Amino acid sequence: MDCIFCKIANKEIPSTVVYEDEKILIFEDLEPQAPVHLLIVPKKHIESLNDMTEEDIELFGHIMHKAAFIAKEKGLTKGYRVVNNCGVDGGQTVGHVHYHLLGGRELQWPPG
Ligand code: AMP
Ligand code: ZN
Repeated sequence: MDCIFCKIANKEIPSTVVYEDEKILIFEDLEPQAPVHLLIVPKKHIESLNDMTEEDIELFGHIMHKAAFIAKEKGLTKGYRVVNNCGVDGGQTVGHVHYHLLGGRELQWPPG
């Protein structure tokens, strides 16, 4: 499958990995929008949040749990944001579900 995040998860494309286990990979975004900008990606190919099924509930809980764990490890004591862009209007550009973990500066609200 021609999926960039599957290739990153399979190490066919290099990335700066900050956390990995059997279910997920967390790596640095290529174009960081904040001092800390990580992508949390399940190794299973799921196109978008719309394609999540009941059997993925534990996986997505695991993603949130590790997001908080890594935020602590990165010293984001003042807070951070975890974002999923879903579909065209949501600004999703890569068709493999992922969460952005952003922090290290005060983030604006609402997003554009
Ligand atoms: P989204 O727009 O929510 O689909 O997010 C896709 C993100 O993937 C963007 O923030 C890109 O900068 C990032 N990205 C695309 N290709 C790579 C890559 N090869 N390594 C790391 N991040 C990437
Ligand atoms: Zn994929």
